[in-house]
Amino acid sequence: MARIVGMIATSHTPTIGFAFDGSKQEDAVWKPIFQAYEPIRAWLDEKKPDVLFMTYNDHVTSFFFDHYSPFVLGIGEEYAVADEGGGPRNLPPIKGHPALARHIGEHLMANEFDMSFFQGKPLDHGCFSPLSVLLDASKGWPLPIIPLQMGVLQFPVPSAKRCWALGQALRDAIESYPEDLKVAIVTTGGLSHQVHGERSGFNNPAWDERFMELLEKDPIALTRMTHADHARLGGMESSEIIMWLVGRAMLSASVKSLHRSYYLPSMTAIATMVLENQAEPMSDREAEKARARAGEQLAGIEDLPGTYPFDLKRSVENYRLNKFLHDLVIPAHRQAFLADPESLFEQWGLPENERAMIRARDWIGLNRHGAIFFVLEKLAAVVGTPNPAIYANFNGMGLDDFLKTRNTQVTYGVGGAETHDKVEAAR
Ligand code: FE
Repeated sequence: MARIVGMIATSHTPTIGFAFDGSKQEDAVWKPIFQAYEPIRAWLDEKKPDVLFMTYNDHVTSFFFDHYSPFVLGIGEEYAVADEGGGPRNLPPIKGHPALARHIGEHLMANEFDMSFFQGKPLDHGCFSPLSVLLDASKGWPLPIIPLQMGVLQFPVPSAKRCWALGQALRDAIESYPEDLKVAIVTTGGLSHQVHGERSGFNNPAWDERFMELLEKDPIALTRMTHADHARLGGMESSEIIMWLVGRAMLSASVKSLHRSYYLPSMTAIATMVLENQAEPMSDREAEKARARAGEQLAGIEDLPGTYPFDLKRSVENYRLNKFLHDLVIPAHRQAFLADPESLFEQWGLPENERAMIRARDWIGLNRHGAIFFVLEKLAAVVGTPNPAIYANFNGMGLDDFLKTRNTQVTYGVGGAETHDKVEAAR
């Protein structure tokens, strides 16, 4: 079964990545940053985790206010470095761990955390600034990550208490994963800092010290604090500390403190901690119960013929195909598809079996393969096929025969003016 080896807590200030990219290891001003990470790197070398579970927050780079979620779990196969304005940093993409991420997602949802899930999005300095000093990426990243993005920029934001509960559920999720994996938690986020308004530049090193002390020895005390308490003591943007609390809740009540550092070069302290987990492994019986609960809602679905629930596995395995078809809502992609589908297939790197099914309008083939119905109806709208023709194809029937099974014999689709008449006339 999977085991949590411990937690690395670290700031994720852009200064860390900046110092690394500028090779400032020997520069007196920047050196303390690198020194802070040396014992952590040594701990990682010793523990040899198989995967890092990272709690972080995005800084309106990949997640914006058009759709902002509090708890967003990365389920994807790979994460590239985001462009935060001056082009992405020169780091390779890092692999995800879709199987463990899926297990965690199912467990959390079953335990009443209504999660959001993401893939295909790059990650910003919230993840990559500490990662670039924790791991050597010169020959590619040595291990995969599972990112948990927390929306802490637009209030309301989850309370400290809720973050604690999430961490506890995450612990159960990871410990009930059947494979023998060693998981290290990396929680990122700044301690005291404020980067907006006339109070910008506010720091409180005494509170930062106290916070780290409480995080280690009495984290429950921290769950009683409000966001206003955090702001008063640590500045408004110190709400990022709730991500440290999520990580702490994933460990045993009593932990072994192996490392702590604090250096305040500019707006936010570079603070780091390593807490080793002292937890007793979950019993096989408890793990089995947890897995059964996670699978409860869809248990028995495989007995329904002709039914393919669109779950996280299907979503990740067919992300490119679904995105190709979904992007038909973008006029330029749609025009390119209609003008020269073969070039577009090539550009997207679609495998031959998927190309063949799209060419043949093999609706049931695409659906069984992993395309969700709601992207198929977009393709149908683009090529002027009515929705009932898709259902007819699903059922192995001609359109007229399928329409006879309905109360009225109408044809329709989701397309607008471009194909409306064609769809209505199809009989
Ligand atoms: Fe931040």
